[in-house]
Amino acid sequence: MKPSLVKLQKFFKLEAERGYDNRAVLGGLSRMLDPWEAEARQDNLPEELISAVLSRLRDYNRLSPASRQEVLQGLWSRIHSEVEDAPPLPEKTPIEEKPIPEVAKEEAAPIHKVEIESKSQPEVKEEPAEPAPETKKETPPEEAVPEKSTPAALNAPVTVLPGVGPKHGKTLEKLGLETLEDMLYFFPRRYDDYSQLKPINRLEYGEQVTVIGTVQSASNRKVRNGRVNITEGIISDGTGNIRATWFNQPWIAKKLRNGTQVVLSGKIDQYLGRLTMNSPEIEQIEQQNLHTNRIVPVYPLTANITQRWLRRLMHRVVTYWAPKIADPLPEDVRSENNLMDLSNAILQVHFPDSKDQIQAARYRLAFEEILYLQLGMLGQKRAWQERSARVFEVPQDWLDAQVARLPFSLTSAQQKAVAEVRSDLASGHPMNRLLQGDVGSGKTVVAALGIAMVVRHSSQAALMAPTSILAEQHYTSMKELLSAGNGILAEHQIRLMIGATPEAEKQEIRQGLAAGEIKLIIGTHALIEDPVTFADLQLTIIDEQHRFGVEQRAALRAKGDNPHLIVMTATPIPRSLALTVYGDLDLLVMDEMPPDRQVVDTHILLPRERERGYSLIRNQVAEGHQVFIIYPLVEQTRSVDEINSAAATKAAVDEHQRLQSEVFPELQLGLMHGRLKADEKEQAMEQFRDGETQVMVSTSVVEVGVDIPNATVMLIEGANRFGLAQLHQFRGRVGRGSAKAYCLLIPETEDSAENERLSAMVTTNDGFKLAEIDLDQRGPGDFLGTRQSGYTKQLQMASLTDLQLIEKAQQSAKKLFHQDPDLSLPENRELAATLAHFWGQNGQPPQADIS
Ligand code: ADP
Ligand code: MG
Repeated sequence: MKPSLVKLQKFFKLEAERGYDNRAVLGGLSRMLDPWEAEARQDNLPEELISAVLSRLRDYNRLSPASRQEVLQGLWSRIHSEVEDAPPLPEKTPIEEKPIPEVAKEEAAPIHKVEIESKSQPEVKEEPAEPAPETKKETPPEEAVPEKSTPAALNAPVTVLPGVGPKHGKTLEKLGLETLEDMLYFFPRRYDDYSQLKPINRLEYGEQVTVIGTVQSASNRKVRNGRVNITEGIISDGTGNIRATWFNQPWIAKKLRNGTQVVLSGKIDQYLGRLTMNSPEIEQIEQQNLHTNRIVPVYPLTANITQRWLRRLMHRVVTYWAPKIADPLPEDVRSENNLMDLSNAILQVHFPDSKDQIQAARYRLAFEEILYLQLGMLGQKRAWQERSARVFEVPQDWLDAQVARLPFSLTSAQQKAVAEVRSDLASGHPMNRLLQGDVGSGKTVVAALGIAMVVRHSSQAALMAPTSILAEQHYTSMKELLSAGNGILAEHQIRLMIGATPEAEKQEIRQGLAAGEIKLIIGTHALIEDPVTFADLQLTIIDEQHRFGVEQRAALRAKGDNPHLIVMTATPIPRSLALTVYGDLDLLVMDEMPPDRQVVDTHILLPRERERGYSLIRNQVAEGHQVFIIYPLVEQTRSVDEINSAAATKAAVDEHQRLQSEVFPELQLGLMHGRLKADEKEQAMEQFRDGETQVMVSTSVVEVGVDIPNATVMLIEGANRFGLAQLHQFRGRVGRGSAKAYCLLIPETEDSAENERLSAMVTTNDGFKLAEIDLDQRGPGDFLGTRQSGYTKQLQMASLTDLQLIEKAQQSAKKLFHQDPDLSLPENRELAATLAHFWGQNGQPPQADIS
C-alpha cells in the first residue's frame, strides 16, 4: 500500500479507537491535510481520490463523533474499492452517544442510514472518550460561560442583510421572515443527505448521492425550436463516468470547464440504460460545501427565490447569530431532560452534522415549545382560579324535576357531568370546563341543564357554535329542552343570532340582551363580532371548541363579568395531550353513549371497487335517503387554516362536476368547500337539509356536528389521508336517524400495508380508541394547531413529537411553576422574557379580560 494511504489508515484506526475525538493528530486532522496532499501526489494516487479525501476531511473538526465515524468509513470504503491492496474497513467501534428519543416520525429522505450501535454493546472501550469540542460547549464550567443574551439586533428586519433589498424583503415576508430572529426559527422542511461520497462505478439507480469528479467534456445546446436549453457534462472520477444534464440553466456551462473538479449532488436517474443525474446541485470543489457533500437543509420556498440563495442566506444568519443567543431554559431543565443548548440546536437544525444531531436539535426545540405552551396555560389557569364568580346553588329536587322532564333518562356519564357542572357553579370561582365526549354522546343536554341552573336565577347564558347550521340546530334543541311543555324559559327568552339574522332583528336582540329579557342567546361568531352587551351574562358555552381559537373563547367570556365557561368538543384526546392543548381547562369526560345507538356499517373499498359504492348510493337515494361524499386535502398541511386548501377544493369541484354529469346524472348534487362564501355554504347546506340535493360533495368542512338524520351514506375518498379521529367525525354525520347507515372508506391505493390503519374504523366505533391509535401512528401534530393553543407562533417542532416528550415537558413546566410561579428568580429571568415574547406581555395565552 502507498505510504500516503498507510498514513491515512493509521489515522483512521487511531480515531476509531479514540472515539473520533479528532486528537489522533496533534492539533487536529486539518493540520495533517496539506502535507498529506503533497505525499499523495507523490504516490500517484488518483486525483479524484485525493480531492475526495481533502474535501471530506476539511470540515472534520466541525463534525460530531458520529458524523466523523460516518465520514471516515465512507472514505475508507471508497479507498478500498479503488486501491487494490488497501485492507478492508477497520472494525466498527461503537460510539458512546446519549440515547436520543425519536423526535421526527417522518424524518425526510433518510437516504443513508447512520448506523450507531447502542451503548449496550459488550466490548465498549474501557475509557470514555474525551468530549469533542462541540459537545463540551453544552456543559461548560460556570465561569467560562460568556454572558449571552438575546441581542436586540435580532429584531432587525431582514433587509439589514447585505444583498437583501426591499424586493427580497417582500419575498421573504411571504415566508413569514421579517426579522433575523424569524430566520433562526425558519426550519427546514426536510433534509437531503449528501454526506456520503460514492465512486461513480458503484452508483445505483434512485439513490441520492454526492459525487466528486473531473469534468471531461461539456456542451450546451438548444432543442424544441430553441425553447429548451440543455447543458450536459461528463464527469469522471477514475472509477467511471456519469452524464449530468441541466435544463434551461445555461450558466451551469461556465462551471463545467474541462479538467475542473466539481461536486455533484442529486438523485441518480436512468436514461437509455445508462445512469445519469438530472439537474444535480453543482459546486466547484474548493468552495465550502454548503449545498453539497453534507446533510443539506431544504427550506420552504416561494416565488422569486431559489433554494440555493435562501440556503446561503440562512447559513450566513444562522452561523453568525445562533452562537450569540442566550438559552432561556434554566440549566436544571436542560440537564434533567438531556437537552441540547439553544445555540447548538438552532445551528444543528439548519446545518446538521449528522442525523442524530438533527434529532437532538428537534427534540430540544419541540421540548421548549411544549414547555412554553404549558407554562402559559398554567399561568392562565392560576389567574382564573384566583378570581371569584357568582355562586349558583342548585337544589336537588329542582334538578331532579328538570331531568325528569327530558324525553330520555341520562346516561351515567351524563349524570356525572351534570353533577360536576353543578358543583362548579356553586364553587365561587369561574367554572372552566372542557366537556369531552364522542359524537352523539349527548353533550347538548348537559349544556342545557347547565343553562337551566343559571337562568333559573334570572341570569343569562350564551351558546356559541362554529356554523350557522349548528347554531340553528342548537336553537331548535334548546327550545325543546328548556321551553317546551312548561319549561324553565319562555320561547321568546331564547333567541338566535347568526350572520344572516336581519339587522332589525339583531337590533331587537341586542336590546333584549342588554335589558336582560333574553335569557339564552345562541349564535355563531356573530355573537362576539356584534357589539352585543348583556345585562348579566353568567354562563358561556362553546360547542365544537376545536373550531374556535382561544381568542374567540376569551372574547365571548369578556361579555360577562367572570362568567362560568363550558367548552365542548367531540374530538377525544388522551389526557396528557388535553392537558397541553387545553391546559387552562378542567377536563370532564363523557365516555359512554346513550343506549340503542346504531352502529354505522363501515367498509373499506379499494379504488377499483368504487362502483359498488356508487350503486349503494343510488339504492339509498332511491329509498329517499341522502349521501355525503368527502374529498381530502391533496397536500399534507399542518395548519388548521390550510385545511380548506386549494387542492382539496379543486378535487371537490372537479369531482362534483364529474359525478353530476357522468355518475349520477339523475340526481341533484350539492357542493361544499371552504372557499365558498359563508352564505353560499349556508345555502348549500340548507338545500341538502331540505332534500333539494340528495348528494353533498364536500371537502372536510362538513366534519363539524351537522345533523341530517336522513343522511345514511358517508363515502370518503382518499380515506388514507385522514386521521382516524377525523374519519370518525365524518362517520358521526350519518346514522343519526333510525335507518341503517353506511360509511365507505376508499383509500387512494391498494397497498394493503398502508390501508391496514383504516381497518380500525371497521373494528371499533369508539372515538377515544381511534384517537389513541391515531396518536400512536401519526403523533400529536394534528391536535396541536395554533388556533387551539393561542400560541402566537406556529408550533413547529412540537407537532413532530410524541407523547413522551409532552409528558416530560409538562413535568418540567409544573416543577418550574411550582418553584417560581412568576418566574422571578434570576435563573428564570431569560425564560420569563421569552415567555412574554411568545405569549405577549403577561407570558400567558391571550385572554381579553385579563389586564
Ligand atoms: P353530541 O354529544 O354529539 O353533541 P347530542 O347532544 O347532539 O350529541 O346528542 C345526540 C343525540 O342523542 C340527540 O338526538 C339527543 O337527543 C340524543 N340523546 C342525548 N342523550 C341521550 C340519552 N341519554 N338517551 C337517549 N338519547 C340521548
Ligand atoms: Mg354536539
